Amino acid sequence: SGVEFNANVVNGLLNNQLIVQISAGVGLTINIMATCLFVLPFVFFSTRSSALSGGLLLISVVLFSYLALVRLHIWFPPGPALLTILVGYIVIYQHYLRRLLRSLFKERQRSRTTLTSIEDGVIRTDYRGHIVAVNDAVQRFCTVPTTQATGRLIWEVVQLHTRHDYKPYPFKSCIEEAVPRRPKPLLLTSSEGEKILVQLAITPVPASRAELREMIVVISDISEAHQLSKQILYHETHNQLSGLPNVTLVHENLRKAIKHELQTTSESLMAIIDIEIDRFPSFRESLGNTASDLLLQEVAKQLRTFQHSGETVVGHIGGNEFILVLGNVPDRGHIMDLLTSVRDVLGESVASLNETISLTYTMGVSLFPEDSLEPEVLLRQANTALHRAKETGRGKTQLFTQNMQARAQRLFEVENLLQGAIENQHLITLYQPLVKTDTLQIVGVEALMRLRDEDGEYFSPDEFIPVAEESGLLIKLGYYQLRQACEQLVAWNNLAVSPLRLSFNLSPYQLKAADLIPTVKETLSSSGFDPNFLEFEITENLFLEEDSGSRQIMEQLRALGTELAIDDFGTGYSSMNYLTRFPFSRVKIDKSLVRDLAVKAGSSAITSAIINLVHSLNMLVIAEGVEQPFQHETLLSQGCDELQGFSFGYPMTAEEFSSYYKDCNGIASP
Ligand code: C2E
Ligand code: CA
Ligand code: CA
Repeated sequence: SGVEFNANVVNGLLNNQLIVQISAGVGLTINIMATCLFVLPFVFFSTRSSALSGGLLLISVVLFSYLALVRLHIWFPPGPALLTILVGYIVIYQHYLRRLLRSLFKERQRSRTTLTSIEDGVIRTDYRGHIVAVNDAVQRFCTVPTTQATGRLIWEVVQLHTRHDYKPYPFKSCIEEAVPRRPKPLLLTSSEGEKILVQLAITPVPASRAELREMIVVISDISEAHQLSKQILYHETHNQLSGLPNVTLVHENLRKAIKHELQTTSESLMAIIDIEIDRFPSFRESLGNTASDLLLQEVAKQLRTFQHSGETVVGHIGGNEFILVLGNVPDRGHIMDLLTSVRDVLGESVASLNETISLTYTMGVSLFPEDSLEPEVLLRQANTALHRAKETGRGKTQLFTQNMQARAQRLFEVENLLQGAIENQHLITLYQPLVKTDTLQIVGVEALMRLRDEDGEYFSPDEFIPVAEESGLLIKLGYYQLRQACEQLVAWNNLAVSPLRLSFNLSPYQLKAADLIPTVKETLSSSGFDPNFLEFEITENLFLEEDSGSRQIMEQLRALGTELAIDDFGTGYSSMNYLTRFPFSRVKIDKSLVRDLAVKAGSSAITSAIINLVHSLNMLVIAEGVEQPFQHETLLSQGCDELQGFSFGYPMTAEEFSSYYKDCNGIASP
């Protein structure tokens, strides 16, 4: 009724319960804002997060409408906004689906193209091994055309066998077990009956039920790769030139031979022979590379004739160095016969291009099991024996002995000592007196180098100088020693009755060092030693390799004021020519001639002739190695100017010489 209505209105007004409809303008604005808020994230952010924010928006609209009604008594109808968002959802979802489909389609095309373009055969089977699909490449690996393969069991159309015992590959059980497999390379028989080496990969495709499971079988032809790796292996284990096993394979083969020998429990020996062609570098120089390569190939061919049984190891381990291992040697006594037969096979000459070249070989031999059981050690021992053989001359053979081992060991020690010899005070200079023949007055000293190890043991120069020379250290050691000796002589000469001369050895190698002249000059000026009292002893055989370079250097040394002596005169091809062609002021008669004075008839005539000749050329003579009064007397009567030898003093350390000189007052006693 009207009264009730009005009462309710009044009540509503009093209790603030009346609801007002939102104005059309504000409602529209809110709807537009909601639409924008829904659409904008899709423009700027990913679909997934935008869909999420759309959902939140949907809830917010409903919440807003509810709160406006309850709290503000304003009615905002959410319908239009909700409808807009829902329609938006449908539109965007459709668009999204279409894009997804398009990309799936593209992906499928890509996979198809990949499958058809690869050379590997790819087969898809069902869980029982029936072929479902294949790519084109499968043709090579199937015994039937690909069009007929589908629906057949895979093991009926792909024939695989194991490589070593040629058993059929157990395809059926592999497919049934449905675990990924990558068996060792297998042999596949193609439709043409060709055998191809293949690599197989079987991968199950996971599925919810066993009967839905599929298998992907990939077959790759690896015969070419296998061939290539075989070739690479061959190159790595064979000498390129001769095709014989190189050092790597020789090691391996020797190891196998030893293993075999140890298993057979035979009593026989095995000879490891290190063979070197003599004078090969000079062949290379005179014949040229092509002919000398042919020569090596010829030698390799001869050696290959030993490869008759599996136990024989033949190898080419360096330029002109070969290894031959011969088994079944009954005992040590048979070794020489065996080596003679090896020499017979190698022959004395080899044809290379149009020439026949006579060859000799040097051999070093170690014996298994006498010398060692280890391949590395045996090869090293054979090499040590080879080096020893080379020292005794060309065409020689040496069996390894433990002495050689000791020598090799000592050489190794020397090499180690030489490194850092100066810093560690391993390098010592000894001084041996030089005396006037008639008065025995000490007129000088010869500086002699020694190498001393931690225990105080001395190494003689004959042992370490060749090593120092080879390692390039001799030059540095020599300069250090020259400085030390010059400083020592300056100290002595300040006190001596008359100044002492320093005789200093220069090896041909030191003489040719580029910085010799400046270093000598610098040493003389910094030590203050008078160059007139410095004499360099140069060994005679240097001049065999005649060159104007050494002559020039000698003249430069003379120009500094120092003197030059020819050392070891009478040992080399003593050409008297040298005496006049080079600027020497003194000749040192070698100790072998002095020794012969006591034992060989006619040797005093030789020393006498040398002394007269040298004097006639206005040079002085010193004789070294004087150990007995008889030698002294002979040389005195022959007019030799100076003497050196154990008779008048051994090589001494600086301190020993100081006190010796003081004690004898500068006059040696015989
Ligand atoms: P070398 O120059 O002929 O030196 C003389 C050698 O004869 C020295 O041997 C010396 O100890 C030895 N000797 C001296 N008197 C007698 C004697 O009465 N009887 C006998 N049997 N021997 C005697 P060392 O010191 O062993 O030197 C050997 C060779 O080493 C030297 O022969 C020399 O060629 C070389 N050498 C030594 N020191 C040096 C050096 O500092 N530099 C260079 N480049 N070579 C050196
Ligand atoms: Ca000397
Ligand atoms: Ca000498």
